[in-house]
Amino acid sequence: MRKLKILAAIITAGIAWANVPAQAQTQFVTIGTGGVTGVYYAAGGAICRLVNKDRAETGIRCSVESTGGSVYNVNTIRAGELDIGVVQSDVQFNASHGEVQFEKQGAMEDLRALFSLHPEPLVVVARKDANIESFEQFKGKRFNVGNPGSGQRATVEVLLPALGMKMSDFSLVSELKADEQGTALCDNKIDGFAYTVGNPSANIQDVTTTCGAQLVNVAGPKIDDLVAQHPYYATVTIPGGMYKDNPDPTTTFGVLATVVSSAKTSPDLVYQVVKAVFDNFDEFKKLHPAFEHLEAEQMLHAGLSVPLHEGAVRYYKERGWM
Ligand code: GLU
Repeated sequence: MRKLKILAAIITAGIAWANVPAQAQTQFVTIGTGGVTGVYYAAGGAICRLVNKDRAETGIRCSVESTGGSVYNVNTIRAGELDIGVVQSDVQFNASHGEVQFEKQGAMEDLRALFSLHPEPLVVVARKDANIESFEQFKGKRFNVGNPGSGQRATVEVLLPALGMKMSDFSLVSELKADEQGTALCDNKIDGFAYTVGNPSANIQDVTTTCGAQLVNVAGPKIDDLVAQHPYYATVTIPGGMYKDNPDPTTTFGVLATVVSSAKTSPDLVYQVVKAVFDNFDEFKKLHPAFEHLEAEQMLHAGLSVPLHEGAVRYYKERGWM
């Protein structure tokens, strides 16, 4: 009897086992972003949330990594250590042409685009008591140029010579990460910082609400020339009132955030990531206020200087967008 029971248990277990649907093998995809107070981290989180909704069918597990920013993301994708990353459109251009920060490594031929995202103005912020009204007035002041590997560092390195300025014009140059610069500003360790970021961002909200930090215009004929000379720059206005204690609009210049990978990243993986975003586009746009004005078909072209990844092309063709 006992033997029979055991036999029955084994048979039942066997039947139950046979009934388990064949599970797709789990594939992992990691998106490199920026500091947790920026918008890239939120963008990566939004993309992964939509990708992971379909995990049962696709077998894809998407996760977000907080990183040093654009240049770090490109270099890590290039090294084959990251599948997908968010990068500024100027950094994308420089990487694909082997220019500026990428002069030593040379052009990254394998860089591919998935789509672009929100505008990222260069947001320059000053302590209230520094009484700064233009970028040039930071001469002799303490300024955070951002960590090496960040997009803002890359943009500041282009901005300074355009204004006829050098790093040594500041009394102190700090290389703090985006997540550290707000505390440094409000603790009076620095007088200002520059952050290429979508708006509104938690990072800028923190300093404007905590210590009344002031946004600074980055405008004038030299900036007009800089914008005219580079296809990926545009003049941008941050609306007045977007941040506390900053009732007037701020004029500056900026880039677009873009999502990239290597040509070597699996086309099926890229297809599923792009599909998750555009099949759920209304939901995606609600996941961060910086995405509110995104328009799907513009995201296939705007700010992109490298070819689209073949996995992305497959999806866009299915939608009739290409
Ligand atoms: N644009 C910044 C960078 O490339 C990051 C901004 C963000 O995290 O939203 O480093």
